[in-house]
Amino acid sequence: MPSAKIYYDTDADLGVLSDKIVVFLGFGNQGAAQAQNLRDSGVPNDKIVIANRPDSYAEDAKSRGFNVEHDFPKAAKVADILFLLIPDQVQPRVFNEEFAPSLKPDVAIVVASGYNVYYKLLNFKPTQDVVMVAPRMIGSSVRSLFEKGKGFPCFVSVEQDGTHKGFPIALALSLAIGATKAGAIASSAREETAMDLFAEQALWPNIILLFKEAFGVLQEAGCSDEALCYEMWMSKEPAEIFERAAEEGFITQLKHHSTVSQYGQLNGALKLDGSTIRSHFKEILYNRVLNGKFQREFSAIEADLEKEGDANPLNKLYTEHGKSELGEAESRVRARLAGLL
Ligand code: NDP
Repeated sequence: MPSAKIYYDTDADLGVLSDKIVVFLGFGNQGAAQAQNLRDSGVPNDKIVIANRPDSYAEDAKSRGFNVEHDFPKAAKVADILFLLIPDQVQPRVFNEEFAPSLKPDVAIVVASGYNVYYKLLNFKPTQDVVMVAPRMIGSSVRSLFEKGKGFPCFVSVEQDGTHKGFPIALALSLAIGATKAGAIASSAREETAMDLFAEQALWPNIILLFKEAFGVLQEAGCSDEALCYEMWMSKEPAEIFERAAEEGFITQLKHHSTVSQYGQLNGALKLDGSTIRSHFKEILYNRVLNGKFQREFSAIEADLEKEGDANPLNKLYTEHGKSELGEAESRVRARLAGLL
C-alpha cells in the first residue's frame, strides 16, 4: 500500500494568505478554535470575518474581538477564503442558497469534513478552489493543543484547483490553524468520508452489537446487571485499553494485561473466522457508503430530525436500543447508583 505524504510547517508559506479576507461561516466547535488559531498565527484581525446568525455564537465571537457579519451574502462577497464550519447537514442549504450566488469566482472554499464534497452536495464554480483541512480532533483540543505549542492530527487535500493555487493555500491554512506542527496527512474527501462513515456504520454498530449480545449471554448465565455494567464498560477499562493502543500499539498494549488474558485474547482472535465480517464490511463500504446509498437515505429523513418524540427517527432509535437487555439493565443500575457515579 502506498504511504501518504505528510506536510510539516516548513512545507507551508503563510505569505500566500497576506491581504486575503478569511471568512469563517460558523463559530462553534471548529470555527471558534480555528479562527483563534489562525489569528494567533499572524493573520490580522481586520482580515478575519465571522459569519454567524445573531445569537450566542455570534456574541462569543464578538467578545473575543472578532468582526461578526450576520448578513451571509455580504460576508460571501468579501471572502477570498471561506471556511465552512457549520454542521455538515445544514451546509448544502446555507452554502448553496446564501453564499454561493455572491462568492468571488476565485474564492478558496475550505471544508473540515469530506461528506458534502464527496457526495457533491455543494454547488462550486469550476474556477473556485475547494480544499479540505480536516482536524481529527474536537475543536477544544484544536485550540488547547495550539496554545500549548503542539500540533494535532489533520487530513489535507485539494479537491478542486480552480485557481491552480489551491495547494499552497491549503498548506498555509493548515499551518495557520496549527495542523502542520504534528504533520498534516495528504488525504481526500473520498478517503475521509469512507473512513468516517465506515467507522460509524460498520465498525461501531458491530461493537455495539457485540456488547449487547455479550451482555445478554452473561446475564442469562446468572451474572448480575451491576457486575456486568462495571466489568464491561463502567469501570472505564475499555477506554484505558484504547488509550494504551493509541500510545503503545493496538496489539502490543496487551502486554499490560494478565498472562491468562493475553493468551485468551491473542489465541481467541486468531481462531475466529473473519471472512463473514469482511464481506459484511465490504458490503457496507461499497454498497452503502461509497455508492451514496446512505447519504440518500439520511437526506430523506433529515427534516424529521427536528421533530419531537417518536416522530424524530433518532429518538425512535434511542427508544429501541433502550429496550435491549443491556439498555434496560443499565437504566436500572444507573438509577440505583445515582449520585455515586
Ligand atoms: P458546530 O455544531 O459546532 O457548529 C456550530 C456553528 O454552526 C455555530 O456557529 C452555529 O451558529 C452554526 N450553525 C448551525 N446551524 C446553522 C444554520 N442552519 N445556519 C447557519 N449557521 C448555523 O459544528 P462543528 O464545529 O462540530 O462542525 C463544523 C465542521 O467541522 C463540520 O464539517 C464537521 O464535520 C467538521 N469537524 C467537526 C469536528 C468536531 O469535533 N466537532 C472534528 C472535525 C471536523 P448558529 O446556530 O448561531 O447559526
